[in-house]
Amino acid sequence: MSAKDDALQFLEAHYTKWIELAKDLWEHPELGLQETRSSKLLADELERAGFSVQRGVDQLPTAFVASWGDGKPIIGILGEYDALPGLSQKVSAVREPVEEGAPGHGCGHNLFGVGCLAAALAVKESMEKAGIKGTVRYYGCPAEETMVGKPFMARAGVFDDLDAAITWHPFYVNSVWWSSFLAMNSFKVNFHGVAAHAAAAPHEGRSALDAVLLMDIGVNFMREHMPEKARIHCVITKGGQAPNVVPAYAQVWYYVRAPMREQVEEIYARMLDIAKGAALMTGTTYDVDFLTGGYDMLPNDTLCELLLEKLKEAGPPQFTPEEKEFARQLQATLPPNAIEDALRSYGLSREQVGDPLCEVIVEPYDKGRVLPASTDVGDVSHITPTAQITTCCHALGTPLHSWQNTAFAGSSIGFKGMMVAARTLALATLDLLTKPDLVKAIREEFEKKRAGKKYVSPLPEGAVPH
Ligand SMILES: [Zn+2]
Repeated sequence: MSAKDDALQFLEAHYTKWIELAKDLWEHPELGLQETRSSKLLADELERAGFSVQRGVDQLPTAFVASWGDGKPIIGILGEYDALPGLSQKVSAVREPVEEGAPGHGCGHNLFGVGCLAAALAVKESMEKAGIKGTVRYYGCPAEETMVGKPFMARAGVFDDLDAAITWHPFYVNSVWWSSFLAMNSFKVNFHGVAAHAAAAPHEGRSALDAVLLMDIGVNFMREHMPEKARIHCVITKGGQAPNVVPAYAQVWYYVRAPMREQVEEIYARMLDIAKGAALMTGTTYDVDFLTGGYDMLPNDTLCELLLEKLKEAGPPQFTPEEKEFARQLQATLPPNAIEDALRSYGLSREQVGDPLCEVIVEPYDKGRVLPASTDVGDVSHITPTAQITTCCHALGTPLHSWQNTAFAGSSIGFKGMMVAARTLALATLDLLTKPDLVKAIREEFEKKRAGKKYVSPLPEGAVPH
């Protein structure tokens, strides 16, 4: 039997185990940096299979790196397992939280983490049987939703010796995910003023809230003079406690995003100048809490092509009439234009994808696009050649980060999509381990695109994960 058949057979033979693990994570959703149970479950499984596991990376206790084999090439599979706040939901077509207000897997990271795990274990199985040289590595990446995981792991250097990294994400399309994403910074500005009686002695006060408001006016005036696709959004997290006291403390939390890391750096520097200006205008002082930053995504075309080929080999998921009915019921709970809007934003048609569930491999559709969102896979893509796929784990039009998505991620629909991803990633890893010319071509493309630029951590010195 070929190494590929070994891997596929191994995945099939342990099918119920993968489903149980994915269900287990789904039933115990944990927020970013609190994924103690989830990361232990996955790391234990890898350790039992003979992987050497480093638990905790830098200041991230729920990150881990699991390796099997030795020497080059080293192929990384990036797994995630964090949940989202407030998205607890039963596997039901009506809004019905398991626990009101509790977290839920509304981005399907339970499938994400286990799909990658199954692939890594299957690769190890066939490497062992066929005597394939090299290293397969599973990266347990926490806190993707807050973009806090991989930038901190990257700063610790854990991706530096990789020859390539691959991953996937649950979606409603089976295809390569070729698009780039927005680079970003997340930071809070704290203004400090002087409290005073707002009626009796306002002249003695210096309002930190005024500084926040003036800073935001400055930022809003800057919008006209920044790259078109850049995004800035904020919330005022602290704005004082009562109108009759001049606020001595106020805080505003910004995200700044743009198609390229350099653009984020430039806008960020201007925003710090605006903060300085606001402090000068109001007689206050300020300091900055830098929460996290991340890169845009640099997709590797050669690696994307390999993933597409392997996805076709793995074959699309097929769904039962009952699953399609469940998908239709959940679609009926979406806003009226959700499906049309989603299709339009990706330039896809209903016929191309399949409605309600995708049962074909969709030809690449998003090459050269920049998705208006961010992912911390971007950081890895600037360190080593990286590519990702999506598989159908939920109904057409279902937004990520929704209760509907939580329902799908706990259902057989999600599990089927997860197994397509596991098969694809396993097949691709085996190719990467056994075809040095392929790895060389992938590497050459990467070096050409990076043009001598080295990855510089977006995190300022001394930044700690929040
Ligand atoms: Zn996600």
